[in-house]
Order: sequence, then structure tokens, then C-alpha cells
Amino acid sequence: SPTLVWFRLDLRVSDNPALHAAAERGAPVVALFLLDDAEAGAWGFGGAQRWWLHGSLASLAGSLGERGVELVLRRGRAAEILPALAGEIGAGAVYWNRCYEPWRIARDRRLKQALAETGVEVESFNAALLHEPWAVQTLQGGSYGVFTPFWRALQQRAVAAPSPAPSAMTGLRGVESEVLADWGLLPAKPDWAGGLRRTWTPGEKAAEGRLGAFLQQAVEGYAEERDRPGLDSTSRLSPHLHFGEIGPRQVWAATRRFLERQGSAPGKAGKSAWKFLAELAWREFSYHLLFHHPALPEQPWRPQFAAFPWSDDEAAFAAWCHGRTGYPVVDAGMRQLWATGWLHNRVRMIVASFLVKDLLIPWQRGEAWFWDTLVDADLASNAASWQWVSGCGADAAPYFRIFNPVLQGEKFDPGGDYVRRWLPELAALPDSHLHRPWEAPAELLRRSGIVLGRDYPLPLVDHRRARERALAAFEEIRKEA
Ligand code: FAD
Repeated sequence: SPTLVWFRLDLRVSDNPALHAAAERGAPVVALFLLDDAEAGAWGFGGAQRWWLHGSLASLAGSLGERGVELVLRRGRAAEILPALAGEIGAGAVYWNRCYEPWRIARDRRLKQALAETGVEVESFNAALLHEPWAVQTLQGGSYGVFTPFWRALQQRAVAAPSPAPSAMTGLRGVESEVLADWGLLPAKPDWAGGLRRTWTPGEKAAEGRLGAFLQQAVEGYAEERDRPGLDSTSRLSPHLHFGEIGPRQVWAATRRFLERQGSAPGKAGKSAWKFLAELAWREFSYHLLFHHPALPEQPWRPQFAAFPWSDDEAAFAAWCHGRTGYPVVDAGMRQLWATGWLHNRVRMIVASFLVKDLLIPWQRGEAWFWDTLVDADLASNAASWQWVSGCGADAAPYFRIFNPVLQGEKFDPGGDYVRRWLPELAALPDSHLHRPWEAPAELLRRSGIVLGRDYPLPLVDHRRARERALAAFEEIRKEA
């Protein structure tokens, strides 16, 4: 009797334990992808993710096709479709890799039980994490709320070796499928995805290529250069990891091989490679937090922040979304995000801090904007990071540490490459005033051909006053805590 493999955020054939188990089982395989928007509530795929998903599914269909298996596409509620399809093909087993979004956990648990009651073998596997979120425990058997001890505990556990892609399988022909192009995942009118197409190639092969290129060319300088948004110094694996086109075990194993090649004195390259693995561990930490605190995407991890006196200034929110705050590094970031569906980590921190601390707009609104615009939008990493920047999350920096967007820009974009790339209207300004154009003498602005307020906005808020306002707002909840 056939095996039904349900693909979700594991859109690859290598190191895919559910697919591997199906191949081992030997019976004909049916591969399914189910567009389950209906069950996702507020957390269905955002616009940029839908664009990515289209490319990723096309790529997966190709890799499965090479192995003799068709990718079957269906849309709707898994609770109805999965048992119906299992019945239709007379499945003897249903396999999938686990997801950790609270809505998926709840649904999958019910589904597993319902399918098992029909006598089908049901099994789920881990493809998305180095270790299951419940497996990494404190000495007292609890969960972690601080990164450093979590990272230490993680390093003490052996990471399973990735499994190779199954070579050939027998597919079951003739199972009805919807057509990918009919799903409308790609934007049409207007087609806003030009910048995404120029920046990214979704799919497993592209993910492997990116990891290989990063380990060959960039990882050596990662520790020193990863905070410089003007340099192409990070892996840009995040959307590939989010969609499971590559798994963290594969990234871990390849990076460890890189480390072994450095020999006994790994030096700078070794330090950099470990830094990179530690960042991968932040992803694990985010999943750990989400698993143990399922309200993380909606509720502050530190409960006193529920009473924070937020602002509902819609005009300020719109200016932030569209990169028109008057602070160049913030605006460059928001325009990079809009154009490419991705944003450098340092700039994510700067723009997020500006939204919640300079504008006092609730972090959930920034989180939702990122959800719609990021190709790597990930419930765990997005929620944990927004809370971290906002000071209400696990292991967050103290609230009073407020990023100064001018100093951040000058420190991390010292030559101005990043700002000039995304704000060409400021390109002629010299470095001395690039991150603070409103302080430029009139003569300098004139020579640079810039009229502030016309070509580029004046600052939306005065950072010094905004900082005082934020600290005063924090005092209100501190008194209540
Ligand atoms: P690299 O520096 O090459 O890191 C390698 C991998 O490690 C990344 O691909 C990612 O999977 C993981 N990683 C690195 N940093 C972090 C981190 N701080 N937290 C969690 N995982 C990390 N990352 C997402 O994948 N999805 C999100 O929706 C997301 N939202 C964020 C929102 C805010 C406000 C902030 C401050 C950060 C957010 N991040 C998110 C984390 C981080 O910015 C991105 O993972 C990183 O910029 C991706 O670029 P990269 O692949 O080149 O990273």
C-alpha cells in the first residue's frame, strides 16, 4: 500500500527524513503539498513568502520528478484533505516532517490521531532543527530563557548526520493535482516582484550553491564583517532555511567540515565559522522559545509590557514602512526590504528599534509588516527577534539601551555604501553628513543638489527627544511591575 509524504516547510529531497523513510518503506510514493491558508489564521504565508513558495514548489517538483515521483498540489484544510487523499490512494503510511508553529502543532496532533484511528501508520520526523525544542533542557529539566546557556547545552549534544537524497523511488501515477500557476502565488497587477527575482533563486539546488559559496568565500571574514550591511558578508540562507530547502543539519555538517579543514590552529576562520554556527543556534533558540511560549508572536514574553503606553500614529507607521522617516539608515533598510524581501540583520535591529522606541509603535505592527514583506518571514525568528529588540523578550537587552540611528549608521555603514545604494537621492552627500543630512550646511545641500523636505524627508522625530519619551513610557510600566 502506498506511502503518502506530506511536504510542508521541508521543500527538499536531501536530508529529508520523511521522504527517506518513504523510500525505505519501498511502496509507491505520493508526494503532497497542501496550501493550508485556511487553518493558519493570521499567520498564513505573507506576500513575499508566497512569491518564494511558487519557485520553491516548482524546484521541488523537478527534483521529485527526476526520482520518478509527481508532486501533488491541493488547497484547503489538511484535516479534510489529508484523510481523504490517504483513503483515495489506499495509503498504508502517512509521513511528514514536524513544524513548530502553534497552529500547526495543534492541527497535526489532531490529524495524527484521526489518521491512526483509520489504521494507517502515521509518523512524523525532525527535518527543521538541530534538536527538538523539548530535547534541549536545563539541569532541572526546564526550558531556557537565556541564549548563552542554551548555546552551551546545544554544543554538548551530537548533531545527527544529514541523510542523502533517495536515488530512485516508485511514484504512484494518476493522482489528481491542482496546477501551481492557478494558485496565484506570484503577484500580477501590480507585479512588485522584480527586485525579488533579481535577488533570489528559490529551491534546493540554489540553497546548496549558496552555502557552498558562503563557506568558500565569505565565512572567513564573517565574525568581523557580519555587522556591515554594505558588504555581502552573511550567508543569506535565511529564506532557504525557512522553507526547508536546506536543513540546519546540512549547514552544521558542512561548517564543521570547513572547521576540520582549518586544522589544529583555525584562527580567524575558525572563530568566524563558530560565530556563524552560533547564529544558527539563535534560530534554534527562537524555535525553543516559540515551542515553550506559544503566545510569543502575539504577547510580550515579559508580561508587564502588555500595559506599555504605545502610540497609534498611523502616519508615522506608514512613513516607517515606506522608508520615509528622514533617518537614512532606517530608510535604506526599509527600502531594501521592500525591493528585495530581505534585510540585513544589523539593519533589522536598527529599524525595529526605531519603530518601537523612537516612534513608540507596538512591535506587533512591525512584526506583521515584516511577515508580509520578508521572504524569510518565520514565526519563531520574527517574533523572538521583535520581542528581543523591544526589550520585552527573552534575553532582551535592557530597555534603556536605545539605538541612536545616526551613530548606528556611522558605525556600521562608515563609507556610506549601503545608504547610497538604497537612497540614491542622498548619494552626492559626503560621508560627514550622509547619516545626518538635516545637519548639513545649506551650501553643502545646495552643492549636492538636495532640497530636504522635497527630495528627502526631514526627520520624523528628534531622536534625543524621542529617546526621553521612550524612557518616560518605560517608567510607567516599571512602576506597575
Ligand atoms: P547569517 O548571518 O548568515 O546567519 C545564518 C542563519 O542563522 C540565518 O540564515 C538564520 O537562519 C539564522 N540566524 C541568524 N541570526 C539570527 C537571529 N538573530 N535570530 C534567528 N535566527 C538567526 N530571521 C528569519 O529567518 N526570519 C525572520 O522572520 C526574522 N525576523 C527578524 C526580525 C527582527 C526584528 C530581527 C532583528 C531579526 C530577524 N531575523 C529573522 C533574524 C536575522 O536577522 C536573519 O535570520 C538574518 O539576517 C538572515 O540573514 P542571513 O541568512 O544572511 O544570516
